[in-house]
Amino acid sequence: KIALPINIFGNDRQNSKGLNMADLDVLTPLQSELEKHYARQWQACPIIGGERRGGNAVNVFNPANMSEQIGMVASADEAMIDEAMKVADAASEEWSQTPVEVRAAALYRAANLLETNQAELIAILVREAGKTLNDALGEVREAVDFCRFYANEARRLMGQPIQLPAVTGEDNQLILAGRGVFFCVSPWNFPLAIFLGQITAAIAAGNAVIAKPAGQTSLIAYRSVELLLEAGIPGGVLNYVPGSGSKIGRQVINDPRLDGVVFTGSTEVAQQLFRGLANRDGAILPLIAETGGMNAMIVDSSALPEQVVSDVIMSAFNSAGQRCSALRLLFVQDDVADHTIKLLKGAMAEQQLGNPALIQSDIGPVIDVNAKIELERYIAGLRQTAKEIATAALPADASRGNFVAPVAFEITLDQLPEREVFGPVLHVIRWKAGELQNILAAIHKTGYGLTLGIHSRIDAHIDWIKKNARIGNIYVNRNQIGAVVGTQPFGGEGLSGTGYKAGGPHYLLKFTTERAISVNT
Ligand code: GLU
Repeated sequence: KIALPINIFGNDRQNSKGLNMADLDVLTPLQSELEKHYARQWQACPIIGGERRGGNAVNVFNPANMSEQIGMVASADEAMIDEAMKVADAASEEWSQTPVEVRAAALYRAANLLETNQAELIAILVREAGKTLNDALGEVREAVDFCRFYANEARRLMGQPIQLPAVTGEDNQLILAGRGVFFCVSPWNFPLAIFLGQITAAIAAGNAVIAKPAGQTSLIAYRSVELLLEAGIPGGVLNYVPGSGSKIGRQVINDPRLDGVVFTGSTEVAQQLFRGLANRDGAILPLIAETGGMNAMIVDSSALPEQVVSDVIMSAFNSAGQRCSALRLLFVQDDVADHTIKLLKGAMAEQQLGNPALIQSDIGPVIDVNAKIELERYIAGLRQTAKEIATAALPADASRGNFVAPVAFEITLDQLPEREVFGPVLHVIRWKAGELQNILAAIHKTGYGLTLGIHSRIDAHIDWIKKNARIGNIYVNRNQIGAVVGTQPFGGEGLSGTGYKAGGPHYLLKFTTERAISVNT
C-alpha cells in the first residue's frame, strides 16, 4: 500500500453530519418545521446574470398526491438562452482568473447555506421529487459534501502550477485552467445532489455554467441556485435555465460559446448529446456523461442470508428503485436460493409504501405518471413470462399518487431485460457452482458497468470477481447504493458513462484544460 501525503484528498474536510431521525427529540421539531414549508407554494423561473426572468409557467404537482399543486415553473425561451450564453461567456474569463481560494471560499459558504436551509430543501425534495425523509436528508448532505469536496479539489489541483523538469536556462510549468462555459444537464432522481454536484465541480474549476434542471424537479434546483448566488457565486457564472431538454439542448450544443457538457441521465440521451457535439461546427468539446446501469448482485452459498436480504431490499427498492446504482439482477447460488427467496418474500411484505413525508414510509412514489405507466407495462409483460416471487402492498390511497409496488420475479439467464428498468423491479436468477464465469460474462454482455454487489465469505470468489469485473463501483458484503462523496467515487463504464467519477480525485480534471508554459530564462 502506498501512503498518501496528508490532504491529498482534502483530508481536512469532513462529510456532513446529518440528523438522527430515529430520535424523537430530533424528528419532532424537524417535522413541525417541515409542516410550515409544506404549506407553501414554490415558484421558479430562469435566472440569468443574477436576474430573475418571467415566462410561460406550468403548474407542479406532488407525485404522492397528484391533485396537490406545490408550485409553478416558468421556462427559459430562446432569447433567454442566448443571453445566458452571452453572460456566461463574458463572466467565465474573470472567474477562471479569480484565485482558487476565492472560488473555494464561495463554495464553502454555499455548503453552509445549504445546511442552514436544510429543512426547506428537505420539504421541497419530499413534495416535488417524492423523496422519503431519509432520502431527502441524505440528498441534502450529499449536495453539501460536493460543495466542500470540489472546493478542496480545486485548491489541491489548481492551487499552484506543476513545476516540471527543465534544462538549464528554462522554466517549465503545467497549469490547469477552467475551460469556459459548461452546460450542466441533470436528472430528476437526484435533483439537488447531482444538480449541484455538476455545477460545483464546473464552478470550482473556474468555469461559468448554464444549468438545466430536469423538467420534473425545477423547484428544488431553483432554490439551490438562489442559495449559491447568495453565497457569492457571481450571477454571470451561474445561469439557471429550466425548460424543454431537447429544445434547450439543441440550442446550447450548437452555440459557438459553449466549451463543455456534463450530463447525468439515460444512456440514449448521452448518445444524442455525443452526436450533437460531433456534428456541431467549431471546437471539439468534451462530454462527461454518467448514465444508466443494469446492476447485478452475485450471492454464493457461503453468504449470510439475513444480511443478503437486507442489502437486497435496500439496493433494489430504496428510492423506489429510481437510482442508477440500484440492483436489478440478483444472482443467487441454487443451494441457498429457496431459503433466500423465502426471506426476501418476508422482507418485501414488511416494506411500507406511502406518503414520503411520514417517517414510517420506506418507499415513496415514482416520479411521474409516465414512469408509472411504463413500469406497470413492463411488470405486466413479466407476469406473462416469468415467475412472480412477491409484490409489496400498495398504500390504501395509492391511486392519488404515482405508486408502483416493489416486485420480484424469478427469471432465467436468457431472459435478462434488454434495457434499464428504472423502478422497483427485481429479477432473481439461480446459478450453479462452476457458473461464476458465465454470470459475469452475462453481466458484461448487457454493456452496462455501473455497480456490482457481491455477497460471499469465500475469498477466492470475491478476489476473482473483483479482478475480472469491468464495473465502476463494486460493493462486497454490503448494499450497493448511496456512494459517499470522497469515499466511494461514483460512476461506470461502457453504456454507464464516460468517467471520471463524481466525488473522486480525478473528476475536476475533466472540467479543466491544461497549459504547458516553457520560459527561456
Ligand atoms: N450516487 C447514487 C448512489 O450511489 C446514484 C446516483 C444516480 O442514481 O444517478 O446511489
